[in-house]
Amino acid sequence: MRCSQTGREYIIVATQYQLDGTREGHLARAITGTCELCKHQASKAQMTRHLMSCAPTYDARGASTVLVQLRIEAAGDPRYWLYIEAQTGATLQQLDAFLRRVWLECCGHMSAFHVGQREIAKRSAIGQVFGRKGLLFTYDYDFGSTTSLGGQILGQREGSLGRAGLRLLARNDPLPWRCEMCPRPATVVCPFCLDSGPCLFCEEHAQEHPCAEEEVYLPVVNSPRMGVCAYGA
Ligand SMILES: [Zn+2]
Ligand SMILES: [Zn+2]
Ligand SMILES: [Zn+2]
Ligand SMILES: [Zn+2]
Repeated sequence: MRCSQTGREYIIVATQYQLDGTREGHLARAITGTCELCKHQASKAQMTRHLMSCAPTYDARGASTVLVQLRIEAAGDPRYWLYIEAQTGATLQQLDAFLRRVWLECCGHMSAFHVGQREIAKRSAIGQVFGRKGLLFTYDYDFGSTTSLGGQILGQREGSLGRAGLRLLARNDPLPWRCEMCPRPATVVCPFCLDSGPCLFCEEHAQEHPCAEEEVYLPVVNSPRMGVCAYGA
């Protein structure tokens, strides 16, 4: 469209309400994350360096093996992120279960890992298929209302996780979602209105929202699957 004052052309890029970063106005402050090992807070970019020094100091006793470090982000909203490390012998099945537990599981949907166009079998060992530094992969949970993630292999190190196949190193702090009708924190999300209009509400405005009678609200949670299917119900 053209501005009538200046004559300049503008392109409207975001007219839709989505949970993909276009709701910036409803976020109160910049997002940091927390190291799960020492509770240090840092931005996503700073966390890589922090974990290089922090993770080895929280190793289990026992023989060192090669560990793979990876970062996973929500494809539609990179403010959701996880740093994970895995034994090379851990399988994609284990990574799948891990992602479901931390972020995704609602009702046992199907999921898949891909590198480029190629699907990677879940029985594969992480060290075999995800060993190369810089490698990118994708992960989809639920082929209906899909939550898509993107992963990157950060590198390897020598260390020990004890018996665990994987461990969570760090994750983003909860996004401070606000009610879309007032400045209070949002506590519920309306799944019916997720793609179409105001959908994040405080308790009071949730009661005034037209969908209130349907009793469909889902909780505001720290997950890219917030408001989708039955997540958090
Ligand atoms: Zn730390
Ligand atoms: Zn579901
Ligand atoms: Zn409100
Ligand atoms: Zn609604």
